[in-house]
Amino acid sequence: MSKRDFYEILGVNRDASDDEIKKAYRKMAMKHHPDRNPDNPAAEEKFKEAKEAYEILSDAQKRSAYDQYGHAGIEQQAGMGGGGGGGFADAFGGIFDEIFGGRGGGGGGGRSNIYRGADLRYNLEITLEQAAHGTETKIRIPTMEVCEPCSGSGAKAGTQPKTCPTCGGSGQVRLQQGFFSIQQTCHKCHGTGRFIADPCKSCDGAGRIKQHKTLAVKIPAGVDEGDRIRLSGEGEHGVNGGPSGDLYVQIHLKQHAVFTRDHNDLHCEMPISFTAAALGGEIEIPTLDGAAAIKIPAETQSGRVFRLRGKGIKGVRSHTHGDLMCHVVVETPVNLTDRQKELLRELEESSRDNNAKHNPRSKSWMDKVKDFFAE
Ligand SMILES: [Zn+2]
Ligand SMILES: [Zn+2]
Repeated sequence: MSKRDFYEILGVNRDASDDEIKKAYRKMAMKHHPDRNPDNPAAEEKFKEAKEAYEILSDAQKRSAYDQYGHAGIEQQAGMGGGGGGGFADAFGGIFDEIFGGRGGGGGGGRSNIYRGADLRYNLEITLEQAAHGTETKIRIPTMEVCEPCSGSGAKAGTQPKTCPTCGGSGQVRLQQGFFSIQQTCHKCHGTGRFIADPCKSCDGAGRIKQHKTLAVKIPAGVDEGDRIRLSGEGEHGVNGGPSGDLYVQIHLKQHAVFTRDHNDLHCEMPISFTAAALGGEIEIPTLDGAAAIKIPAETQSGRVFRLRGKGIKGVRSHTHGDLMCHVVVETPVNLTDRQKELLRELEESSRDNNAKHNPRSKSWMDKVKDFFAE
């Protein structure tokens, strides 16, 4: 088994400040100091290990050599010999979990059976209003929690997992195949390095059981489709004291009855009556902050867009609101009474003599069609 990562020993992140390292060391030293733990070789070993880690990480030069080359870097430089490792690493990892909330050095030195928990994704559907104004919601997610009866060991209460006899605890086995020696994950312990003779009944020896937890999620105002909110450390638990993964809440917007969203702008269709389009008028339209009125000038055509500045959405990272774009659709009247039809026919007749003036687009289109057939 290789030597333990120094950051992991002190339970600090790789970017920890000198002060954090000093504090972490002091805590470890107090706990495991030989004066406080007389005749306890395990504590003495831990004390030595922490001391060695602190000696390296508190020295800028040695720390940088260690960061670059690992244990090899400082063994060369400082001439320090082995002395580390040993079978207590697993038990120690468990203690670390309790004290430091499982935050190891992340990706730290060659221990193959410490894993960071997987990142999880949760798809959250929210309304456009919630996205625009921000909201707080609760989500219920499945999670693997430490099994209580066995405290995560996977072994029946009162028993302990043993070192795997097949791989000797390394989790890896070497197979000789012709000229090649191939390293494989141990099939007996599946890479954990441990063998459980009498598994815990609650978790079937896995040490973790599936549960649900409820989390409060704060959705910032302005989020958009596909945005992700990271909940640090709320992913799957790490294995053997590794740090937890993160939970990503992915935002999906529900379809809105009136608005469609394009980044920070909103679009809506605005049907107006044939007469309002011709004569002009004032029309009330909805916005995300309540009703607003638009003045429709006379002779408004279908497809015209009215822009209401600042009535869109303020994006998470933008300083201003987007706009609301109202697309005019002139509605052809339906279910007309005889009297109404009569009035329309009158209108039609009155404009027939001067069609080019009253319906210029129709007129010019008809002319183009005629030319097309004449050629
Ligand atoms: Zn269990
Ligand atoms: Zn094994």
